[in-house]
Amino acid sequence: MQSYGFVGLGIMGSAMAKNLLKAGFGVTVWNRSKEKCAELAALGASVAVSPAAVAAVCPVTFGMLADPAAAEEVALGPAGICAGIGDGRGYVDMSTVDDVTSRTIAAAVTAAGGRYLEAPVSGSKKPAEDGTLVILAAGDRSLYDEALPGLERMGKKCLFLGETGSGARMKLVVNMVMGGMMAIFCEGLALGEKAGLDPAAILDVLGAGAMANPMFAIKGGLMTKGNYATNFPLKHMQKDLRLAVGLGDAVAQPLFAAAAANELFKRAREAGFGEEDFSAVFKAVRG
Ligand code: NAP
Repeated sequence: MQSYGFVGLGIMGSAMAKNLLKAGFGVTVWNRSKEKCAELAALGASVAVSPAAVAAVCPVTFGMLADPAAAEEVALGPAGICAGIGDGRGYVDMSTVDDVTSRTIAAAVTAAGGRYLEAPVSGSKKPAEDGTLVILAAGDRSLYDEALPGLERMGKKCLFLGETGSGARMKLVVNMVMGGMMAIFCEGLALGEKAGLDPAAILDVLGAGAMANPMFAIKGGLMTKGNYATNFPLKHMQKDLRLAVGLGDAVAQPLFAAAAANELFKRAREAGFGEEDFSAVFKAVRG
């Protein structure tokens, strides 16, 4: 049975690493805040002292970090992945970052003698726990094939999209749509409430027509009860909108709605909702 490394044990990474352990793979983990390694260690994971130490012993290491700065620090920092990787060992970065960051990490991993794959995911905390993520991989095809047994334990659908950057761009497009949908959904609920409509009735009507979707149904039910328990941190949604708007700049695509959604999520962060679920943007809309 293959063994894997896993760095970054946040909401997503801890659930994904657990699925590797449950499948019987040997797993070596590292996380910046050491206490998050305890649960995985109790399930049989080895704990390493640094990302470099993980990449030095594991044929394939997965990463799930917060944002471009974190992904770069873990990959390129003094005790980072690149300080340990070599001999063709692989690094699969599953964080949501922009394509420039991904290509920067790819170049450094390759220069250090390793192989690189980006593999951001679609799906939140529950799909991560259930092993039903959609995985958007791109980069080194040989590493994709080698990592596939592990990826298949974390996701229900694995796609190989081509050159490094294609997975990152696909992920930003998907999350830009999600952030935009959440913004207008919140405005619809807020408008309806102020205009004297019953929120439950609004959800009912939306769910009965062509705009029905799981996000409105699941999040809507929670939001109208004031439940913003974090599945997808709002600060990460704003990061994804920021990166999508940046991609729009890079390719000269106007993004009026996404730019407006980004401003709304920035306002919500400023109001102190960054650690709550991204649906807490509703509180910023209502004022
Ligand atoms: P999270 O719970 O905030 O976890 C972030 C992880 O990054 C933690 O392990 C954190 O370490 C680490 N980290 C942050 N800054 C770091 C730094 N400077 N150096 C080293 N480690 C650092 O986030 P998450 O929800 O798991 O999301 C992880 C990634 O997946 C993000 O890119 C997010 O956009 C993406 N994603 C999330 C979801 C979702 O629904 N949650 C869905 C799809 C994709 P500490 O524990 O020490 O803070």
